[in-house]
Amino acid sequence: MRCRMCGQPAVLRLRAYRLNLCPQCLREFVARRVKKAIKEYRLLEPGERVLVAVSGGKDSLGLWDLLDRLGYPTKGFYIDLGIGDYSRRSEEMVRAFAQARGLEVHVERVRDHFYGMGIPELSRLDHRPPCSLCGMVKRYLMNKVAVEGGWVLATGHNLDDEAATLLGNVLDWKEGYLGRQAPRLEASEGFARRVKPLVLCTEREMAAYAITSGIQYILEECPFSHGATSLFYKDLLNQLEEHSPGSKLRFYRNFLKVRHLFRVEEPPLRPCTRCGFPTVTEVCNFCRLKEKAEGKAQG
Ligand code: SF4
Ligand code: ZN
Repeated sequence: MRCRMCGQPAVLRLRAYRLNLCPQCLREFVARRVKKAIKEYRLLEPGERVLVAVSGGKDSLGLWDLLDRLGYPTKGFYIDLGIGDYSRRSEEMVRAFAQARGLEVHVERVRDHFYGMGIPELSRLDHRPPCSLCGMVKRYLMNKVAVEGGWVLATGHNLDDEAATLLGNVLDWKEGYLGRQAPRLEASEGFARRVKPLVLCTEREMAAYAITSGIQYILEECPFSHGATSLFYKDLLNQLEEHSPGSKLRFYRNFLKVRHLFRVEEPPLRPCTRCGFPTVTEVCNFCRLKEKAEGKAQG
């Protein structure tokens, strides 16, 4: 198998594009996909400062590498969720990546905000599944740090993630969620702009990018991700892709063309009386959880 671009031995076959690529051309291919997403969806202006949310996985570290290579001033942002060895090893990966490239990383620890409790303890305290609580905590902290530092926030959601989310939203016809699912979410009072530059790159392409770029990333999944519905949807979409290469990309890109048809009813927001960030209730979910944790800590 030879690379279609340069004739060197190829390492990856991309059936959706009828392309065989060698490591060097594969890295260029992924960089072009990211540039295309940035341009087509107006994600970033040249030279804009980007806070890259990193988990230690292939997508977020690959994204950080790509944005740095494309010349954007970046800073990594890692949240220590307090999930045992998984969090410890993820942080090691992020720190090693940053150090090797002379990049800066900002670390927030969930335990520092919730009286020593990490996601597992908070989940028990609040009687909520870890992932719903974790999502809320991550969104809050990412937004807070981005707003306070004047950064654009970039996350490593890839095409597989977005297509799986889309499938879930379509199955239930969640109009509000469909209307809000976009590669770019505008900044507004109390909210940083959020962008997803990897939406045109598949999980497989990002894994190949990380490996061929020498990026060390955490291979194990979060222990709470087991049995997640999104993994089942990804599997279904991969079966579809196997049968009809390129269908994942068509599904997502064609959705973006009709996204404006879905109604988004934004509830009125007001500043949280504790932290000042926008919320629909008097006290935001983050601050409410904090109060519960404080109550537990004080016995
Ligand atoms: Fe958080 Fe759930 Fe993802 Fe684990 S799997 S990092 S708990 S959202
Ligand atoms: Zn608050």
